[in-house]
Amino acid sequence: MSEEKHTGSCLCGGVAYEATGPMRPVIACHCTQCRKTTGHYFASTQIPQEKFRLTKAETLSWFASSDTAERGFCTNCGSSLFWRRYDEDMISFTAGTLDGDTGLEIGDHIFTDTKGDYYDIP
Ligand SMILES: [Zn+2]
Repeated sequence: MSEEKHTGSCLCGGVAYEATGPMRPVIACHCTQCRKTTGHYFASTQIPQEKFRLTKAETLSWFASSDTAERGFCTNCGSSLFWRRYDEDMISFTAGTLDGDTGLEIGDHIFTDTKGDYYDIP
């Protein structure tokens, strides 16, 4: 039996990836860092790094957004794609960069105390 496979990319296509196997429900993070980097909030799924493969990384750059984690983005089109902790074997990637239907749902909203005042969380 072959595992489910998902593909995704940034807007310009300079960064592309493949994720194999079941993905975690989407978590919407409303922390200040996630709001700054996305312009709204960071809605991401997650998978073990061993199940994740970059298929194109020409324009990928990593930004150390804190002492514990870094964020991957496209230097050409500006898409915010990845987040990973230095001490974990997991990688988070934005649900909006996945191609086509994801079969995912939002599982939780976190850091809602720092969310913007211009929207409500259902
Ligand atoms: Zn791009």
